[in-house]
Amino acid sequence: MKVIIVGNGVAGVTTARLAAERDPSLDITIYSEEPYHYYSRPRLVDLVGGQVTPADIQVYPEEWYAERGIRTVLGTRVTALEPDAHRLILPGGEATTYDRLVLATGARAWVPPIAGADVPGVFTLRTMRDALALRDTAVEGRRVLVLGGGLLGLEVAAALNARGVSVTVVEVFPRLLPRQLDAEGAAVLEERIERSGVEILTGDSCTVIEPNGDAKRCRMKSGEVLEADLIVISAGARSNVTLAQEASIVCARGVVVDEHLRTSAPDVYAVGDVAEFEGRVWGIIPAALAEARLAAAQVAGDESATYHDIVPSTTLKVTGIEVTSIGEVNPETPGAVEVRAVHPQEGVYDKLVLRDGRVVGAVMVGSRAHLRAVNLLMSRGTDVSAHQDVLLNEDFDLLALAQQRTTTRRAPIQADS
Ligand SMILES: Cc1cc2nc3c(=O)[nH]c(=O)nc-3n(C[C@H](O)[C@H](O)[C@H](O)COP(=O)(O)OP(=O)(O)OC[C@H]3O[C@@H](n4cnc5c(N)ncnc54)[C@H](O)[C@@H]3O)c2cc1C
Repeated sequence: MKVIIVGNGVAGVTTARLAAERDPSLDITIYSEEPYHYYSRPRLVDLVGGQVTPADIQVYPEEWYAERGIRTVLGTRVTALEPDAHRLILPGGEATTYDRLVLATGARAWVPPIAGADVPGVFTLRTMRDALALRDTAVEGRRVLVLGGGLLGLEVAAALNARGVSVTVVEVFPRLLPRQLDAEGAAVLEERIERSGVEILTGDSCTVIEPNGDAKRCRMKSGEVLEADLIVISAGARSNVTLAQEASIVCARGVVVDEHLRTSAPDVYAVGDVAEFEGRVWGIIPAALAEARLAAAQVAGDESATYHDIVPSTTLKVTGIEVTSIGEVNPETPGAVEVRAVHPQEGVYDKLVLRDGRVVGAVMVGSRAHLRAVNLLMSRGTDVSAHQDVLLNEDFDLLALAQQRTTTRRAPIQADS
């Protein structure tokens, strides 16, 4: 059975690893546009911060692939897909066939329509190449403007700040991490980040980038003008759907998959940042891992396994501040109860979101003391309504409650990371 995987990020390589474990006789080849073996994308931030080298973040040594019989073709973009013929076209017109194909083409950095965003000195961060370019340009004493106060923007800002670069983060929403935090949690985080030396501007956005000698000038929607030596745009990612789209495979934001991760083309699966399941592209590693596990089962012939959506869970560490958000953090429909504990002096904020007496979401800023308890409560579907008012009190043992074996209902699975 000839299996081809397009893309050697976490989704593609994990699919290959698990498929080879299930059936060592599979003939597996991974094609990768990037000229590097699979590396940890989150650790690109450490590379920008100068703490690691490219070799440090390569996940497996070269022999790891050979030992598992996995062939890798690096620096080679798959240019076209012909699903009816079960064929892929490579640069130069060369073709190769497959029995089963896994699209793991991931995503790319999205650049909003800002005039002047395509000039030298404006960066994004998605690939090793991006990270090396940013590391070598954003040297001590320079001024960097980060456009986007989401997870990635804040991590890059912290990494550059630690290297003596002067950093300002601009977030269009009135608060940081709008998808992961509520207003109170974001205020605690903002205060702590500013204490570390990074300047934060919220509720504004850049409309035009202009050259200013060797530097840049950002014209803001508010009318303000910000000066910087270089600009990092961190405005999210978009799935790499072109290969599938040009092959007439059904795509929306991502390549649309069913609960078996099948696309609309026979024997073609999609996983990771390129896959869209039930209208959602998660764009995070826990989802990529959960999908890879299932895709591996499928290509190895176990077609019974089905995919369940994960509970989204993220932990970010900005200048040592841990920010965790799990599940539903900003309830938009009636029926949710929010339980909060705020300790502004220590920069700690906790919130639980309950529905029908069960924890369905949580925000933790400045501490992960409750993380284990929350994960248990959510995965076991424990009814906490009897303790609702005291759940986050300092003298209440949330973990002991979570560890009681009073399982009533299981929540959707939490993928490991
Ligand atoms: C700096 C940074 C930090 C992050 N931090 C976190 C974090 O802390 N936690 C978290 O959960 N997520 C994080 N993410 C997101 C996470 O990295 C992605 O969810 C994950 O990489 C998705 O994996 P993937 O394998 O689907 O795609 P990708 O990692 O994007 O890999 C896809 C690969 O496919 C290749 N490819 C695309 N098209 C073709 C083609 N036609 N032919 C051949 N090859 C092709 C691409 O070049 C790429 O190498 C971070 C992302 C970035 C950029």
